[in-house]
Amino acid sequence: MAVLFIFIDGLGLGPDDPGINPLAAAPTRWFRLAGALPAPGTDGRIVVATDATLGVPGLPQSATGQTALLTGKNAPFLAGRHINGYCTRRLAELLEAHSLFGRLKGVGRRVAFANAYTPRFFRDKVRLRFPSVTTVAQRKAGMTLRTLEDLARGEALYQEFTNHLLRAQGYDVPVLTPAAAGARLAALSARQEFTMFEFFQTDLCGHAQDFPRALRLLEDLDLFLTAVLEGTDLARDLVVVASDHGNLEDLSRRTHTTNPVPTMVWGAGAEAFAGRIRTIADLAPAVLAHLGVPPGGALANPRQND
Ligand SMILES: [Zn+2]
Repeated sequence: MAVLFIFIDGLGLGPDDPGINPLAAAPTRWFRLAGALPAPGTDGRIVVATDATLGVPGLPQSATGQTALLTGKNAPFLAGRHINGYCTRRLAELLEAHSLFGRLKGVGRRVAFANAYTPRFFRDKVRLRFPSVTTVAQRKAGMTLRTLEDLARGEALYQEFTNHLLRAQGYDVPVLTPAAAGARLAALSARQEFTMFEFFQTDLCGHAQDFPRALRLLEDLDLFLTAVLEGTDLARDLVVVASDHGNLEDLSRRTHTTNPVPTMVWGAGAEAFAGRIRTIADLAPAVLAHLGVPPGGALANPRQND
């Protein structure tokens, strides 16, 4: 029994308007997500429109959104605002005490973060000083960041999984088709109990308001996800796609949105898992429940606890 969590940054549910919403226009199997959502079970998945604002005024942002996803805590409420960019000290404390990685590793479960980091990352003093939430979560849980050596062995993916961006940076790595990348992630996930993969080109593309690139990204993600699902034993394992806030679904603006985000679930126990999801802070507790890890007091409602 494994959970594969594919995190797609900046993917919301927007208007059914192909003039501004690539998800209303993309000729894809899984990412034509605008207007009415597919009824549960009709195409093998459950899609839940998921609140990303967490009741905190302002536009939801990545650092607090990802902390909420990984901890089950209302991170923007606890931090006092939605926080973009790098992981602050307060968010690092939440991750240290409550992250899914730490909780699962703490009870002896096999956990992986599939993304590979480049040598350039490890040399970049600014990036090391201002790390992302997912990087901090790994470090706080005692995980070793995957590298391009792992990628060369087939044990990791780059965040832009086709490797085109790596090659553009001068790294000698083979191009992967989206289908090959998806098959690789499925194989990696099958040996773990919880695996996360992070994709954020969608958010960058939303800020750039680049409609043609958005369509290409969604088509690549569609092929990738189809291969993930084909490579996963869905009678045993669960695949979850989720996001931290809207952005790509409204290219009429260059900012994030307050739209709900799609949580998509396939596989064994999908119905019970999806039934627990209302906000992005429900994902971590749902993963723990699915894997039979008691939530304990630490994952209770932060408004009652802190
Ligand atoms: Zn953004």
